[in-house]
Amino acid sequence: MILEELRRVDSHPSADELYLMVRRRLPRISLGTIYRNLDILTEAGEIRRIDSGSTLKRFDGTTAPHHHIRCVRCDRIADAHIEVKIDIDERIQRLTGFRILGHHVEFLGLCPRCHTQPAAQPSLAPEIPTAPVTRT
Ligand SMILES: [Zn+2]
Ligand SMILES: [Zn+2]
Repeated sequence: MILEELRRVDSHPSADELYLMVRRRLPRISLGTIYRNLDILTEAGEIRRIDSGSTLKRFDGTTAPHHHIRCVRCDRIADAHIEVKIDIDERIQRLTGFRILGHHVEFLGLCPRCHTQPAAQPSLAPEIPTAPVTRT
């Protein structure tokens, strides 16, 4: 059921968010069970854990190679549907001598919702000092 819920969305939920989603169907499930199963599913290659600069660990039901774009303001992660260059691994391997196991690319930006809305906080622009009054 965790897998079903995860594959139903493309929001890349955290374990806590998944917990809330699954709990609607299985009210007695515990957060620990969610964490344990997410680990098992990740190990089995059924889902992907997203390593990103985000503070939360997120999960992805889509295991086919694809890139992500993260909103630096609201932390939302979307799929970036662009051709994934597999040959970059080989090229990096030749350049560095490392055996490459994989790579991840994360694009950063402001999502459509955030870049059309003004920031919640007023901007901290320095106040323009008023010019001293000069006597004539
Ligand atoms: Zn955003
Ligand atoms: Zn994804």
